[in-house]
Amino acid sequence: MRLVSLCALLWIAVVRPALGEGITILLDFQGPHSDPAIAEMKREFADVMKDTAVPFDLRLLSEAAHQTYSDLVVFRFKGKCVLEPAPFLYDERGPMAFTYSTGGVVQPFGEVECGKVTSVVRSAMSGGDFAHADLLFGRALGRVLAHEVVHMLSKSGGHGHEGIARKALSGSQLISPELHLAAGDVERLHPHK
Ligand SMILES: [Zn+2]
Repeated sequence: MRLVSLCALLWIAVVRPALGEGITILLDFQGPHSDPAIAEMKREFADVMKDTAVPFDLRLLSEAAHQTYSDLVVFRFKGKCVLEPAPFLYDERGPMAFTYSTGGVVQPFGEVECGKVTSVVRSAMSGGDFAHADLLFGRALGRVLAHEVVHMLSKSGGHGHEGIARKALSGSQLISPELHLAAGDVERLHPHK
């Protein structure tokens, strides 16, 4: 089983929103994307993060114009965010997602490489999976997003030994029926509890 490193980031100090009040995550899709996959991504993200008890609100950037938010995270989705039946060539080196740090302060801003995620997901799909491509791809996107948000909220670039917060995940782990946030990771999000 080939594991693919999930993210690349440098966390020195992290913007940490007030967890109790909820966090809005704006999804900025720069290329083509699939509504059913986005719906599944939101559903999977909510499912993975439910134990954190943090209210998250995921919405498309296009739905959020002219509103102001106090606790805001922006994720940019680069490339073609659609998993199509026919494979296309994509450079599989490098991580699937990034988060940025500027002058030692991590910004509440991340980037997902859609081409990379589609490629990793496709490598784990077979036969009948292609009939549910949107669902499986959306599930994987939700897990990639959850992984990055755990870094952001836990103020740490550290990785867990199990579940969503592992340093590397295989394509099959990204689309498997269940992949949880480990109890230890939930604790890292609430260090004072
Ligand atoms: Zn990571």
